[in-house]
Amino acid sequence: MKSNAERPASPDVCAIIVCAGKGERTGLNYNKVLHYLGQKTVIELVLDAFAASDASRAVIVCSPEDEARIKELAAPYKDVSLCYGGATRAQSVRNGLRAQPCDVAVIHDGARPFASPALINACIRSAVRSGSGIAAVKSVDTVKRVKNGKVSSLPRAELYNTQTPQAFAYADIMHAYDGACDGCTDDAEVYELAGFSPVLVEGEYSNVKITNVGDLVKSTPVGARVGIGFDVHRLTDGRPLILGGVTIPYNKGLDGHSDADVLVHAVMDALLSAAGLPDIGVLFPDTDDRYLGVSSMLLLDEVVARVTVGHRINNVSAVVMAQAPKLAGFIDAIRKSLAARLGISADSVNVSATTTEHMGIIGNGAAIAASASCMLTENHG
Ligand code: MG
Repeated sequence: MKSNAERPASPDVCAIIVCAGKGERTGLNYNKVLHYLGQKTVIELVLDAFAASDASRAVIVCSPEDEARIKELAAPYKDVSLCYGGATRAQSVRNGLRAQPCDVAVIHDGARPFASPALINACIRSAVRSGSGIAAVKSVDTVKRVKNGKVSSLPRAELYNTQTPQAFAYADIMHAYDGACDGCTDDAEVYELAGFSPVLVEGEYSNVKITNVGDLVKSTPVGARVGIGFDVHRLTDGRPLILGGVTIPYNKGLDGHSDADVLVHAVMDALLSAAGLPDIGVLFPDTDDRYLGVSSMLLLDEVVARVTVGHRINNVSAVVMAQAPKLAGFIDAIRKSLAARLGISADSVNVSATTTEHMGIIGNGAAIAASASCMLTENHG
């Protein structure tokens, strides 16, 4: 180990943010670091904390499947690079360390969005002073060891739960990770195995790791919440007219990047607004070829999955504004179609239709518009 005198006064500090897990325990069909908590994803909240800390740069360790999306989310942040993870957490950390040699490495779980910049800095300062700084909190639970069916109690006063960030002198942690550690899930343990003595820093109880759906639910807004959405699309020749997932016979259809189902677009924005999440323009950008010609009902499925984390959809009400065709005969089919995807009964979905008395872009047949509102109720059970 280097002596204190050899450590540089203003060290080059690199964050290693580990996001290569699949997050299977959360029950999401995407990596939990990509989940929105309000207007920002988990990984953006992590990057915000590091941007406000003394770390000078960061490397995000991710899987190839998540690379494009993480790159996009990380683009506004300065000095952030990406590298691929490995089969285990230890291999992922090792890849991250190798990618960015520095003086002090701060290793952090991508699924801990609530670590404060002050905690990150306290870990960095400890590493500069003493070689390491490990965020840890006193155990509030009494911990039992169960071995071969025999239960024994551990003295709670001596127990700490380690968290991340964990900061280390780079050469030491790199040396430790070059040893055998593939079963390790904690960087301090790897450091210990290499013969070093980790130094604990007082962690934060709010610095939870998002592991299961319950952790996500705790972070969603509470109470009954209303939402509103609006959309308009141009009518054009040579496209089918699809409203609420139902194809309506007409000589024109709506123009757009997806199937341009204006009613579903308004409903999705109503749901997202009630949940406090970004709108469909952010979630499904029309610059993304994955959404070219896609059925809006598939996008609705994804929106429903996102908003029903911590919420239940109580009801949806929508108005379609069209001069033609007459929609009265299709309303029931549209309500049933939407209700099936929303996971609620058809009597909780109300759709009405109106003309605009031949006025404006709707009245002259150039476009169809829709607005929707909804109510979400708390479902933290
Ligand atoms: Mg639209």
